[in-house]
Amino acid sequence: MRNLRQKQASLVHRPIAWHVTHWSHDVYSQGAYSTLLPGGSPAHRAALGDCLDGRLVIAGEACNPKAPAMVHGAWDDGIRAANLAVRAGARRVIVIGAGCAGLGAARHLSAQGIDCVVLEARERIGGRTHSLQLGPVTVDVGAAWLQQFGDNAVAREAERLGVRLVGTDFSQPLAAASDGPVDGIEAAWEALRRGIDRRLPLTEGVARYLAGLAPAEARATRYAIEGNLIIEACLPLAELSVDSLDEEGVGNDDHFLPGGYRQVIDHLAAGLDIRLGQPVARIDWQGSDVRVNDALGDFCICTVPLGVLKTLQFVPELPQPQRDALAHLGMGRLEKVVLQFDRRWWPRSPTGYLRWYDTPASWVEWLDLTDAVGTPTVAGLIAADAVERQFSGRSDEEIALAARDALQAWACAVEAVR
Ligand SMILES: Cc1cc2nc3c(=O)[nH]c(=O)nc-3n(C[C@H](O)[C@H](O)[C@H](O)COP(=O)(O)OP(=O)(O)OC[C@H]3O[C@@H](n4cnc5c(N)ncnc54)[C@H](O)[C@@H]3O)c2cc1C
Repeated sequence: MRNLRQKQASLVHRPIAWHVTHWSHDVYSQGAYSTLLPGGSPAHRAALGDCLDGRLVIAGEACNPKAPAMVHGAWDDGIRAANLAVRAGARRVIVIGAGCAGLGAARHLSAQGIDCVVLEARERIGGRTHSLQLGPVTVDVGAAWLQQFGDNAVAREAERLGVRLVGTDFSQPLAAASDGPVDGIEAAWEALRRGIDRRLPLTEGVARYLAGLAPAEARATRYAIEGNLIIEACLPLAELSVDSLDEEGVGNDDHFLPGGYRQVIDHLAAGLDIRLGQPVARIDWQGSDVRVNDALGDFCICTVPLGVLKTLQFVPELPQPQRDALAHLGMGRLEKVVLQFDRRWWPRSPTGYLRWYDTPASWVEWLDLTDAVGTPTVAGLIAADAVERQFSGRSDEEIALAARDALQAWACAVEAVR
């Protein structure tokens, strides 16, 4: 252990560029993506998206029980909402938000010849997909992967456009732990999902389940919870529903876009009437029309993120089933750091995917973009309580350097067991 620490201290690799996200404090996202709070179930997602009085629909990733918290789930849900507008005989639709759900809705409506305006608060489109330039590399600081690739309408658009895609096999991480070799994580995860008493609140169910395990199994299960649940559902156990165990996360056939999601988003937005810099605080849907800022329509599709939705004023207020759904859904906390170096000093993972099991958890998931983009670049993800632990009171530079330290600790741990 002493040798490992000495080695770590002697390796001081300074990033030449970095980016740290703050989705949790961004007023137009208020978190990373939706997640199921205690008692919450996919049925709450579906209820949130019901058509209200034939003129108002809430849509977006939070309303899609089949593909929640994902870009293509948002896109599909925008189209679902647009179909409800068509069925209601809408002639002028106000879409709020120019993320994937809003773009999906607006494109579908425009294709049917229905008049449609998109009101977007930010001075850019794309919402929680956001491609930035870091040195010579385009990096996605929001969504990066096209998930559920075989059943992903946005992936089909990317393929039609001829955008370069690179696969990531999440089942084959180069994994390391701060307390010795690690294996059996996936088996421990599947055993937990089969064996936990789902009638209990999640924290209690997990505690009881762990109490029945041998120390090595319990350790693997704790790491599986960090790597398969917390990093996906993005809240601590006490704030999650038991049903979170079944909401699908990353898979074996996910693909990322080395040139950035922006290539697809810009294409999907082409030709739409999108008004930037239009923050919405109130939706007036009394009477037969809907009024939002200066826009008047006979139908409204609201695609703002769940965290923002909870702050909007609806006149009249949302019906009880939608308020109940809102109370059972919350925004997860997930942040990303992208680090660029002048050389790749860390071990190469054959799949580009790395996992770091630390206690307490820190930067759990990493993607090594180096092979795909040609410049030594890695992106790390951190979720739930670990965000506060790593971000609180630190500047972006300090956060980036602390993330670098985690990557360095992972690299030393990998080398120690080779
Ligand atoms: C760090 C991170 C990593 C992720 N990784 C992945 C991934 O790899 N793969 C994946 O599929 N998904 C991923 N996701 C989730 C994915 O980004 C979202 O599920 C998806 O982009 C949501 O689309 P949406 O249209 O529902 O919402 P958004 O994209 O958030 O669009 C909503 C729009 O509403 C606008 N808006 C907000 N407030 C207002 C207001 N008051 N008035 C007017 N407009 C407003 C916003 O600016 C935004 O443009 C990730 C998310 C994060 C944060």
